[in-house]
Amino acid sequence: MRTVQSRASQTAVVMGSERLAYGELETRSNQLARLLQARGVQRGDRVCLLQAKTPAAIISMLATLKAGAIYVPIDIASPPARVNKILAAAAPKLLLAAAEATSLLAETRSGAAVVSVAGSLEGAQSRPENVEAYGDAPLPSVTGPADPAHILFTSGSTGTPKGVVITHEMVGAFLDWALPYFGHQAGDRISGHPPLHFDLSTFDIYGSLSAGAELHLVPQDVLLPHQIASFIRDSRLTQWFSVPSTFAYMMRADAIAEGDFPTLKRVIWCGEVLPGAVLAHWMRRVPHCTYTNLYGPTETTIASSYFRVPEIPEDPATAVPIGSPCAGEEIYVLDEALQAVPPGEIGELYIAGAGLSPGYWRDPEKTHAAFATDPTSGRRLYRTGDLGRRDENGLLHFVGRADSQIKSRGYRIELGEIETALTAVPGVAECAVVGVASESFEGTSICAAWASRAGTELDRVQLRASLAQTLPAYMLPTRWLQLAELPKNANGKIDRPALRGRFATNSPHD
Ligand code: AMP
Repeated sequence: MRTVQSRASQTAVVMGSERLAYGELETRSNQLARLLQARGVQRGDRVCLLQAKTPAAIISMLATLKAGAIYVPIDIASPPARVNKILAAAAPKLLLAAAEATSLLAETRSGAAVVSVAGSLEGAQSRPENVEAYGDAPLPSVTGPADPAHILFTSGSTGTPKGVVITHEMVGAFLDWALPYFGHQAGDRISGHPPLHFDLSTFDIYGSLSAGAELHLVPQDVLLPHQIASFIRDSRLTQWFSVPSTFAYMMRADAIAEGDFPTLKRVIWCGEVLPGAVLAHWMRRVPHCTYTNLYGPTETTIASSYFRVPEIPEDPATAVPIGSPCAGEEIYVLDEALQAVPPGEIGELYIAGAGLSPGYWRDPEKTHAAFATDPTSGRRLYRTGDLGRRDENGLLHFVGRADSQIKSRGYRIELGEIETALTAVPGVAECAVVGVASESFEGTSICAAWASRAGTELDRVQLRASLAQTLPAYMLPTRWLQLAELPKNANGKIDRPALRGRFATNSPHD
């Protein structure tokens, strides 16, 4: 990973009143890397980060890489049962835990050693470490470009999160395209809005540090639209990058004034469709910025295509294209036989190129299912599950999903993971979970229908409480419907379109 070492006194990372200079980031990550090595961490070992999004977490990431190991950012807001699944899959050598993870840590079962990195871990399995006792000289690099740098766990349809392996060169290839394209400079002040277990945060962190810019981590309590707007203003940000739900949330609350955010130069989004009306609102209120749509799944590293919006969309119903492949990436629109479909026709989007992951961590079956080989070129391809088309100008358009993966509040969710958890609740005879487009902040509402076993009384409050034991809050259904029996199609399968229709018209709620 590339960081700038020649600007020791310049600010590298900011959060609230905490400010970390490049020199400090270098010194502290070197010390922590030496501690990791002293604790037996070697090239290829996993180090799980049980930390919130803080400057200390950035130090932990860099230290892990410098020690030659692979970091795994853990969502510490997830229930312990889910964190335990991730820990079991990652099989870490060590956990780097911060004070905010104390209660979670008490309920995790990993067997790995725990090192406290910031604050104190009351009652935890470890004593706070004296990191400063370790040398701060740079460490010789022990990894190559094809070595994994981090593993990002994402929702899995069978109920177990899957770990996407991201190598050093995959991130490097994206930055090689993105930094010159966006024109990152040392004077930039870049937002760090997504959580660290989202791959978008990789661009914030390494884009900013590679350019010698300032990374402004958005604190977790900056949640409301006006707070986010104040954050952009007060931090005098030059780049804002987030999922579209934040853009929509700010528009609905009328949090953006005419000509707002005078220092802002670039507005970038990724992860979901940004509705044309929301984009037009931002472009009118903040006309002095460039607006860029990035598209791509975690499996192909941050983004694989881009489209810079040339002017305010006249018709808000027109979708913004996902555009053209970033340098080093290839995107194909294919049919089921992996043959190219003609321009204008809808097919599935397949991605090849420099950002392609080697696969899911220790899961050859899921890797085999998601990655294919191009029959003509023999190249590896990632089967995105996205439907798309190429227009007459060669630009790509996102059309929807071919499966039951959704985005809700910017989170990638396999509805199958929720169904698996719901099926496991005693008393549930049958259930289905569907996504229904909503006007609210969620973007897509998670809707659950269930039938109870004869003689069992189950209400949505009980079901929700059961699911909260295994699923993070963002995966909990917000709308519920109890039925005597779920609707079936002619093949006897649950009729999901019919259920979506019921949720769309009936408006059951929690
Ligand atoms: P994630 O792995 O969380 O980045 O989610 C990847 C998925 O998000 C893609 O497969 C798409 O379904 C969706 N996605 C990503 N970027 C966009 C975009 N710009 N427009 C529409 N959908 C997107």
